[in-house]
Amino acid sequence: MDILQPAVYKEPAPILDKENPFESMMHRFDVAAHLLNLEPGVYEYLKTPVKQIIISIPIAMDNGEIKVFEGYRVIHNDILGPSKGGIRYAPDVSLDEMKALAAWMTWKCAIMNIPFGGAKGGVRCDPGKLAPLVIEKITRRYTANLLDIFGPDRDVPAPDMNTNEQVMAWIMDTYSMHLRRTETAVVTGKPQILGGSLGRREATGRGCMIVTLTAMEKLGLKPKDTTIVVQGFGNVGSTTAQLLAEKGCKIIGIGDVSAAYYNKKGIDLANASEWVKSSRTLAGFQGAERISQEELLELECDVLVPAAKEDQITHRNAAKIKAKIICEGANGPTTAKADPILQEKGILVIPDILANAGGVTVSYFEWVQDRVGYFWSLDRVNSRLERMMSEAFISVYESAERYKVSLRIGAYILAIDKVARTLKLRGIYG
Ligand code: GLU
Repeated sequence: MDILQPAVYKEPAPILDKENPFESMMHRFDVAAHLLNLEPGVYEYLKTPVKQIIISIPIAMDNGEIKVFEGYRVIHNDILGPSKGGIRYAPDVSLDEMKALAAWMTWKCAIMNIPFGGAKGGVRCDPGKLAPLVIEKITRRYTANLLDIFGPDRDVPAPDMNTNEQVMAWIMDTYSMHLRRTETAVVTGKPQILGGSLGRREATGRGCMIVTLTAMEKLGLKPKDTTIVVQGFGNVGSTTAQLLAEKGCKIIGIGDVSAAYYNKKGIDLANASEWVKSSRTLAGFQGAERISQEELLELECDVLVPAAKEDQITHRNAAKIKAKIICEGANGPTTAKADPILQEKGILVIPDILANAGGVTVSYFEWVQDRVGYFWSLDRVNSRLERMMSEAFISVYESAERYKVSLRIGAYILAIDKVARTLKLRGIYG
């Protein structure tokens, strides 16, 4: 055997007992790579991130103290085009999480047929405890430290957990200040007045709504007879709930990090949003019965939308889930160990890399609009999003049928095959 050759890849590694998002991602990748009969060299290439950057972000706090935060940017792959992916601010941000999320972005963009690779970034901090001025300083220093990485043709960040349009505006401004000219296309998810796209804020939730309705149709579920539970009441969860309610579905359960609520007659979402606006979280909301976080996921319902964070549906609670459809609004809400349990139960899982791809799709629209300098109407954004989500759903569905696998593995197969074929055509430089 040629010792310079990477180990020959034979079959999926066993699922380890420890569940972390990167291992969960890698397990699905292994299964799909095995079915695709991926060459060992291509396998090695696609599993390894192109760049993994860790930076330190020193900040002078209000009281004069210096505090050092840790920031990350992982570029998983850029074979299809500039790498694309959000930036999250959270206390548990880690390199492993970034690696999983960056790879998911590669697969997501490939499935959606958008010309981007995948990346993810983040800063380990607790934004709920930081003054806006400190968040601005962190954002600007993070951007300045990554000036050589970011760029409209290189790597294009966007919002993710706990970052928003304002944070994107600071990134755009900091980058532009260093460039000595305004460069809007360096980041997406910006305020509309700064080159943001109409419909970007609701795009992830709208995409979830579109694929949920398609899946409901497959199962013969009519909106007016469909009950929905949504975990997470941030941008993705609240928009998905709202849009599905507008289609006639009944939202019977909602929850966020602070509390969960159930009302079998349907929850008044306008009231819930008003409540969150004034109190920041759902805790204390009236008009529904308070239940535990575990009960929320295990409610009797037709559709469950986990739109909060990773590792919510695990081998511990998967058997207790009663929904017929799971639409993964969050990235990685289901662990690899939970997959076979859900499949055994016959639950139709719309995988994250398809379900929540509406966000990056409208990010792509935003990038295109910024570069052309011509902005689209909301109708145009929404109808193109609808078309692309529906086409992607059909491709994933066909891939799953062809290989006789779940939609998740069907999605991975579709994505990995596309990136691998592109790699073959481009070849290896050097
Ligand atoms: N953070 C979002 C995601 O996970 C959007 C990324 C983007 O628009 O680049 O898909």
